[in-house]
Amino acid sequence: MSGAKGRCERLRRLGMGKPITRRDFIDGIAAAAVAATASSPGLAAADPDQQVSAAQDHPGYYPPALTGMRGSHPGSFEAAHALRDGGVPNPSAAAIETGEQYDLIVVGGGISGLAAAYFYRGKAGAAARILILDNHDDFGGHAKRNEFAFGGKIQLINGGTLGIDSPRPYSPVAGGLLNALGIDPTALAARHSQPEFYSSLGLGSGVFFDKETFGVDRLIRGKISSPEFLDQAPLSEPARRDIQRLETEPIDYLPGLTSAEKKARLSRISYRDYLLDLVKVDPSVIPLYQSRTHGEWGVGIDAVSALDVWPFGLPGFQGLKLDAGSAPHMGYTAAGYADGGSYKFHFPDGNASIARLLVRSLTPTAVPGSTVEDVVTARIDYGRLDRPDNPIRIRLGSTALSVSTSGPGHLPVVAEVVYSRMDRLYTAGAEHCVLACWSTMIPYLCPQLPEPQKAALRYLVKVPLVYTNVALRSWRAFHRLGVSAIHCPGSYHSSVRLNPVTDIGSYRSPRSPDEPILVRMVRTPCSPGMSERDQHRMGRADLLTTGFATFEEKVRDQLGRMLGPGGFDPARDITAITVNRWPHGYAYEYNPLFDPVWPEGEAPHEIGRARFGPIAIANSDAAAAAYTDTAIDQAHRAVEELLAG
Ligand SMILES: Cc1cc2nc3c(=O)[nH]c(=O)nc-3n(C[C@H](O)[C@H](O)[C@H](O)COP(=O)(O)OP(=O)(O)OC[C@H]3O[C@@H](n4cnc5c(N)ncnc54)[C@H](O)[C@@H]3O)c2cc1C
Repeated sequence: MSGAKGRCERLRRLGMGKPITRRDFIDGIAAAAVAATASSPGLAAADPDQQVSAAQDHPGYYPPALTGMRGSHPGSFEAAHALRDGGVPNPSAAAIETGEQYDLIVVGGGISGLAAAYFYRGKAGAAARILILDNHDDFGGHAKRNEFAFGGKIQLINGGTLGIDSPRPYSPVAGGLLNALGIDPTALAARHSQPEFYSSLGLGSGVFFDKETFGVDRLIRGKISSPEFLDQAPLSEPARRDIQRLETEPIDYLPGLTSAEKKARLSRISYRDYLLDLVKVDPSVIPLYQSRTHGEWGVGIDAVSALDVWPFGLPGFQGLKLDAGSAPHMGYTAAGYADGGSYKFHFPDGNASIARLLVRSLTPTAVPGSTVEDVVTARIDYGRLDRPDNPIRIRLGSTALSVSTSGPGHLPVVAEVVYSRMDRLYTAGAEHCVLACWSTMIPYLCPQLPEPQKAALRYLVKVPLVYTNVALRSWRAFHRLGVSAIHCPGSYHSSVRLNPVTDIGSYRSPRSPDEPILVRMVRTPCSPGMSERDQHRMGRADLLTTGFATFEEKVRDQLGRMLGPGGFDPARDITAITVNRWPHGYAYEYNPLFDPVWPEGEAPHEIGRARFGPIAIANSDAAAAAYTDTAIDQAHRAVEELLAG
C-alpha cells in the first residue's frame, strides 16, 4: 500500500471521516433550537477552525453546547491580534458612538470581571449601571462550561477552571462571595461528591507507555512503585532499579543540611536535575516523569523546581525530612492543598457554575432558578444578558480595543472604551473602568499607561494548555482494563481521566460502564530546555496554529492505542470532541528557577496592577496566582481602589 493510501486507511479506521455529533456545530440540547433557525446565517460554521459568530440574542444561542474548537475559539481573538499587529491604528476614529454611559465598564467577563461588577454594585448601590464586555461567545472566562447531550440527557464537564481549590485558605473576601452565592464547598462535598465511585468498582490509575517514547504501546495499571508494575514496564534494568529506589527508599540526598537549607537548595534546582544529579537516576528514567508537572505548571520537570514538586507527592523526598510549610522561594503551589479546604468539591461544569451564580445575581432574569443546586441544569437565556433595561449588562463577542481616559489632571476624569463586535467598532463611556482581562493585552488597550507599568504587564506570560473533552458511547473499555485515570508520559495528551462523579440538583452522573460518558484529556505544549516563559510563548504559537483536525486525529489515535486492548474502537466509540484551547491559560506564577526575588511591591504584577485615573486592574494575573480566590480578591481590590476616593 502506498504511503498516502496507508494513511487514508489509518484515518478511516480511526473514524476521521465519520460525522461525530456535528463536531463543529451545536449538538444536543441546542440542536432542536438550531434546527428551527438553521436558515439564519452566521450561527455556525461548517469548519471548526472558522469563525462562528452570532448575536447573543439570536434564538438558539447557547454556547455551552457547542463542540469543536472552544476555549479561545475562532472569532474570539482575531480583533485583539489585529490590534497587536498594528491593524487597528486608531480604534476611536473608526468607532460608532453608542452614546451609552455607565458608572462602570468591566473589560473581561471571567470570574474576576463578574466579581468586580458584583462588588461595585455592592458599594455603589443597586442602581449602578454596569457594562461587562467579553470577547468570547460565553461568559466565565476560563471558567467555561461544556455541555453534551446523550439521548436527551445532559452531561457536563469543565472546559477550564475546575476546582474551588487554592494553596491558601480563601480570604474573607473570596470566601464571603462564595458564601453570599450560597456555595459551601464542604457541605456540598459531603452531599454531592462521590470521589470513591470508580475505586469502588476496582478502577484505579495507570500509565500508558507509547511506542514512540518507550518502544512499545502498553497500558499498565497500578502504582509505579509496585514490583508488578515495574516488571511489566518497558524500561531498561537500570531504569527499573532506580525507579524502585526513587519511589520507595527514604534516602537523604542532601545530607548534612538543615531543612531550611535543603529547601533553599531544592528551590533552585529543577526536579529533572535533582533526579539526575542528586538522586543519580539513570537518564532513561526521566521520560517517565517528564510530563508529571504538565497539568499543574504547564511545563515539564526541566522547568519546575524540585521544591515545588515535593508537596505534590513526586518521589525522592521521603528521606529528606523536610519541615512542613513553605519557604521563601517556593511560589504559591508549594504549600499544598491541605489548607485550601475545598478541593473535594467541584460542580459538574467546574467553576462555570460559580460564574453562572454570579450572572444570576447580576442579571437575574437570564438565569432561571434560585439555588446552588438548580443552577447546574439551568438553561441560561443569553438574550436577556444585555437588555437596555438591565442595570447590569453582559455583552459577549465584544473585544475591547482601546480604553482611554481624559486622564489624571483633567476634569471630568472618565473612561472611554472602544470595542469590536461582529466586525464593527463601538464606543461606550463610564465613570470607572475595571480591566479584568489578561495583563498582556493591557499595554495595547491602554497605550497611555506609563512605560514601566506596561513592561511589568508584559512580563506576565500566561500558561498555554488544552482541556480536550471527549464524549464516548460507553466506558466499558476503561472498566475492563481497570483504569479511571491514565498518565501518558510520551503522548500528545499527557493525561486522560473519566469525568468525576457528582450528583447535584437534578443532575446525575453516569454509573453503568455501558452508559455514555465524558473523558478529559490534558495537553500542554512544551519546549523542554527553555525558560518557563519562553516555553509558554512557543506553546501559545503552537496552539494557535494547530487545527481541530490535528487534535481529533491525535485523540482518536491515543485513545485507540491505549484502550484498544479493552475493546475500544475510536471510530465506533467517540461521539463528540470539544477542544478547549487556552493559549492564554493560567496566570504566570513566578518560578524560582528563572525569576528573581523582587522586593515587596516591586514584582511585575504589583507594578502592573497600579490604578490609572478611573481605570483599575483586576484578573488573577494581577496576583500572579492562577486561582479563583485570587481572581475574586483582585476584583475586590480594584473596585476598592476606584471607590475609595
Ligand atoms: C484550563 C484551566 C484550568 C484551571 N483550573 C483551575 C482550577 O481548577 N482552580 C482554580 O482556582 N483555578 C483554575 N484555573 C485558573 C483560572 O484562570 C482562575 O481560577 C480564574 O478562572 C481566572 O479568572 P479571571 O477572571 O481572572 O480570568 P479569565 O477567566 O481569563 O477571564 C478574563 C476574561 O477577559 C477576557 N478578555 C481578555 N481581553 C479582553 C478584551 N480586550 N476585551 C474583552 N474581554 C477580554 C478573556 O477572554 C477572558 O474571558 C484554571 C485555568 C485554566 C486555563
